[in-house]
Amino acid sequence: MGVCFLSARDMNARHADELKAAAARVIDSGWYILGEEVAAFEREFAAYCGVRHAVGVGNGLDALSLILRGYKELGLLREGDEVIVPGNTFIASFLAITENRLVPVPVEPDPTTFNLDPARVEDAIGPRTRAVMAVHLYGQLADMAALSALARQHGLLLVEDAAQAHGASSAGRKAGAWGDAAGFSFFPTKNLGALGDGGAVVTDDDALARRVATLRNYGSETKYHHACQGINSRLDEMQAAMLRVKLKYLDEDIALRRAVARRYLAAIRHPEVLLPTVLDEERHAWHLFVVRSDRRDALQRHLQHHGVQSQVHYPVPPHLQPAYPRLHDVRLPLTERLHREVLSLPMGPTLDEDAVHQVIDACLAFGGAA
Ligand SMILES: *Cc1c(COP(=O)(O)O)cnc(C)c1O
Repeated sequence: MGVCFLSARDMNARHADELKAAAARVIDSGWYILGEEVAAFEREFAAYCGVRHAVGVGNGLDALSLILRGYKELGLLREGDEVIVPGNTFIASFLAITENRLVPVPVEPDPTTFNLDPARVEDAIGPRTRAVMAVHLYGQLADMAALSALARQHGLLLVEDAAQAHGASSAGRKAGAWGDAAGFSFFPTKNLGALGDGGAVVTDDDALARRVATLRNYGSETKYHHACQGINSRLDEMQAAMLRVKLKYLDEDIALRRAVARRYLAAIRHPEVLLPTVLDEERHAWHLFVVRSDRRDALQRHLQHHGVQSQVHYPVPPHLQPAYPRLHDVRLPLTERLHREVLSLPMGPTLDEDAVHQVIDACLAFGGAA
């Protein structure tokens, strides 16, 4: 039996009865957009994160984009302003910035955590810098205490891309509760996944929350009256109902992910398979378990040969993508090296004992010269 990277099917099968009952409730209600399920999920998710507001939107990219758009509407950002962002991230972090005609300033990560390095962020601050977007990559919180202090000192907005980090925390404060605002994704394979697309903006800022809620719904607070030129990006009732079921199990799922990570960290001892650095347990929600190897492609083939699926997050950094020709001259050697070396091993709350063993044995059997 092979080990699959992550099975959304297995994850949802555990709650099939509850999910089906919730779906039936929505079907029978006859109300499918912006109703009681979304309102209830927004309250529950805000409480989970420890913030005042959550606003459900269509997906994680829109969550990030609407935060920046909201700040533009509130007069805190202007076209052409610079936003510091880690060079090693999923392209959505960049797209949210460029969609708003803001300028991404990619910086190199901390080489041990892959997250923003506050010292490098400080070096990148210039006269047009107005915001920092921290990405909690692979599920591990960035150094938010240092980044908050830096943002305060320089009068910058601090936005969290928390799409991979639901439930991670530091000093008891969760992902989403550190920045001025945070964007979450509920893509089916995220730590809190819907059965379709979904996302949320969370914030303690009343004005921003109200603005995002307006923007997601055609710029309208009152039906057919449009305060601004909004978009259509609403979390729907069906997905909110699914998420309300799954939110109840999020902490349990993270505990299961942490148990898998502990096993990997204890058993994978191999000079060519470098393990991730964990600062402390609560800080990592283990969306992905990412190892590094000089011979990444050979390692991936070797694992495949042993029936173990793996993935690369991500093969090409945003600044080298065809989508961003104007960033091709930017040099980020560390970021570029990470993209050549990283490999994500199977990780998830449904990975059983045998599968974990099989992954460990396959890693330990990686050998031979290049
Ligand atoms: C998944 C993800 C997003 C985007 O979420 P979608 O719901 O797919 O739009 C943004 N940033 C990061 C880091 C992600 O992993």
